[in-house]
Amino acid sequence: MTRETGSAQTSRATRLASLANETFDVLVLGGGIGAACAAWDASLRGLKVALVERLDFGAGTSAHSFKVLHGGIRYLQHLDLPRLRESCHERGSFLRIAPHLMQQLPVAVPTFGYGIQSRWVLASAFAVLELLTFDRNRGLSDRARTIPAPYLLSRSELLQRFPGLPREGLTGAGVFYDGQIRNPPRAVLAIVQAAMDAGAVAANYCEADRLIVRNGAVCGAEVRDVLGNERFAVRAAVTVNAAGPYALDFLRRSEQSVRANVPFSRDMAIVIPRQLDPELAVAVQTRYADPDAVLSRGNRHLFMAPWRNRYTLIGVNSRVYTGSPYELKVTEPEVAEFVAEINEAYPGLQLKLEDVAAVNAGLLPFGENAQGAKDLSFGKRSVVIDHAQSDGLQGLVTGMSIRWTMGRLLGRHVTDLAEGKVRGGVSASRTDRTPVRGGDIVSLAAVEKDLRAAAPQLSTTQVSRIASNYGADWNAVVGPQQSERQVIVGSDYLISELQHAVHHEYAATLTDVVLRRLDLGSGERPSEATLAACADLVASELGWSATRRASELQRVRASYPFAGPESQYPVSVADP
Ligand SMILES: Cc1cc2nc3c(=O)[nH]c(=O)nc-3n(C[C@H](O)[C@H](O)[C@H](O)COP(=O)(O)OP(=O)(O)OC[C@H]3O[C@@H](n4cnc5c(N)ncnc54)[C@H](O)[C@@H]3O)c2cc1C
Repeated sequence: MTRETGSAQTSRATRLASLANETFDVLVLGGGIGAACAAWDASLRGLKVALVERLDFGAGTSAHSFKVLHGGIRYLQHLDLPRLRESCHERGSFLRIAPHLMQQLPVAVPTFGYGIQSRWVLASAFAVLELLTFDRNRGLSDRARTIPAPYLLSRSELLQRFPGLPREGLTGAGVFYDGQIRNPPRAVLAIVQAAMDAGAVAANYCEADRLIVRNGAVCGAEVRDVLGNERFAVRAAVTVNAAGPYALDFLRRSEQSVRANVPFSRDMAIVIPRQLDPELAVAVQTRYADPDAVLSRGNRHLFMAPWRNRYTLIGVNSRVYTGSPYELKVTEPEVAEFVAEINEAYPGLQLKLEDVAAVNAGLLPFGENAQGAKDLSFGKRSVVIDHAQSDGLQGLVTGMSIRWTMGRLLGRHVTDLAEGKVRGGVSASRTDRTPVRGGDIVSLAAVEKDLRAAAPQLSTTQVSRIASNYGADWNAVVGPQQSERQVIVGSDYLISELQHAVHHEYAATLTDVVLRRLDLGSGERPSEATLAACADLVASELGWSATRRASELQRVRASYPFAGPESQYPVSVADP
């Protein structure tokens, strides 16, 4: 079932013409989780919405997170109960609206001795958590997506699963559940597509160059089509600047003096090609304290989570960042320092710098920290600014999401403000109960069953991946004549998945295809044979020259090991 017909270029041309010729209620800048949710929320409320993203949908910070849907347990230590409840609600919302793209993630927290880190203290914390999150599974019909109660694990059970953990004083572990985002860029795409289904006009590779301001009011933005190098104005009653960590830079570029000054942290998570446990994540203590913890059970934790059946994600390492968001880089010494921190926390891993297959990094709104502080205070709330209130500038709202998990709520808040300005009143948000594109399913197991019946020749891994990536829309990539031989060299990805990405999912570069639509490379760099096969296929689908094919390949290779936001990309990706 494909909704957009005709070639990608034609549909893009139509969308760009709409952006240039129509007048919108709301123009959303950015295509990360915050922007996608804002555009979707506003469209569902019947507002006429445009969205422009300078790179690919979800290519910014949102693609590079640690992939955890936070359920709020961390905020128990801070005694921040509203934040705990909020986080729990947001985890539930994503499990409900995007059930194919989210799953449970059990996390083991080791216990020690008889004091604050003991089993009984953790068991008591779990009992409080149970009470505070009693309604966490409301509206979740797929039992596999519900969040079970936390439980305790014995010392021997824990060591069987993680034999390398430090053993001194170890008494076992408590296991609580978060959610895991199985494919963050596809999740963002599914929300953008849901917004488009609800009437929004969205385009990737369209950069907002500057705001258009008349008589103290923002009435849209000047936009550049990065693929075609055309410039045009997008007119809107309200502009929602949801460009994440780039948002304030963009305002400065528009020569708007705004009061807000948001400090940023550079967060990093690495991927190693080793599996510690197939299902269970583990938390290990670092040497750094959490200055905001009211009930501290020791130092801050590092988390190690299973990824794609073969890898482990390890995060998060943070440091104060004061440079330009467009110049973010992670250096080898920074990764080496993080590897040393990991080895100190989990000596059994004996990790080496060469083991690091990929580095995910991005910028986040931060807490207030003195220069050089080691025990860092993290940001606590998303940033929402109504510039009419703060700067006397009408028609402009800025939003930056503190967590991927909080992106939907941020979208709701900025839409409330935008709708208030357009209509003078606020209607109810429906994004916590409306399925995203592909999310209208009874259960993932039911989708897998249908897929197996339609294409019995597909392997279990192919079935599970296709069900998860496309949900209800699986038949967009698997036809009745599907052959197991129609795969991309060196992988089990179907050629039809790549063709669908290019013609119906707005993939315009090889990086879009390899890193985001097919997720061939979120664990490590795909083999040269696979990359070359993908490049040949995309080149033939989009009519690329040999020079363009070579430069696209080079861009994918350059993403490793640092797979951070592609902010350093040359501004144009057009065929030379
Ligand atoms: C290492 C790391 C680990 C993390 N782990 C987690 C986690 O486990 N769980 C969790 O909930 N959160 C996590 N986060 C936080 C989460 O990823 C972010 O809070 C969230 O993705 C921010 O979303 P956003 O939409 O505000 O920003 P982004 O995703 O950065 O989106 C902003 C978009 O705006 C675009 N843009 C910029 N300038 C322009 C312009 N001029 N015109 C048009 N578009 C523009 C950018 O290209 C970008 O795509 C983590 C973050 C990092 C860095």
